[in-house]
Amino acid sequence: MPLNLAQFRYDDADRTNAAQWLEAAARDDVRTRLHQIYADVAEQVTTRAPACWASGRCCHFEKTGHRLYTTGLEAAATVLDRAHIPGAPQLTPEALDRALAEGACPFQVANRCAVHPARPLGCRVYFCDRTAQAWQHELSEHAQAEIRQLHDEHHIPYHYAEWRYLLGALLPPPHPLSPLTP
Ligand code: SF4
Repeated sequence: MPLNLAQFRYDDADRTNAAQWLEAAARDDVRTRLHQIYADVAEQVTTRAPACWASGRCCHFEKTGHRLYTTGLEAAATVLDRAHIPGAPQLTPEALDRALAEGACPFQVANRCAVHPARPLGCRVYFCDRTAQAWQHELSEHAQAEIRQLHDEHHIPYHYAEWRYLLGALLPPPHPLSPLTP
């Protein structure tokens, strides 16, 4: 069932975490390590050469029946890097609500990823090509462990959660509060 922003409950911990994710994602040492993890994943994916038909279905969560999970740090890095990508849409409460209502990602534009260079790990390892399923889980687990280690080394709060929930946490307050959690 499609979600909306008002269904997400953001408490004080989310607020504190969001500020720390944004601060960490702006640091050169953290960014360099995160980008290295992404580059290693890209190398592995290139070696395996999965098929991508650019259907955009993988970014339309309701259609495919899957959810994108990521970390708060990665969501913050995407939001910060988005500003340097020509044509990338702004992340606003309205844009996020629209995406939630459609069951999609707020950064999908005309079936394409408008933040492709800044997308999170989950988008880098997921392919609907069935032959990719044999290796993508292992690759994802390995890279996720490295991202976890990056958090630990820099004392960054680790929260692995639904993508749009984390994007909403990064929006400036006030946020709608409700008794529901994602
Ligand atoms: S960030 Fe890009 S690749 Fe990932 S779900 Fe959104 S539109 Fe798709």
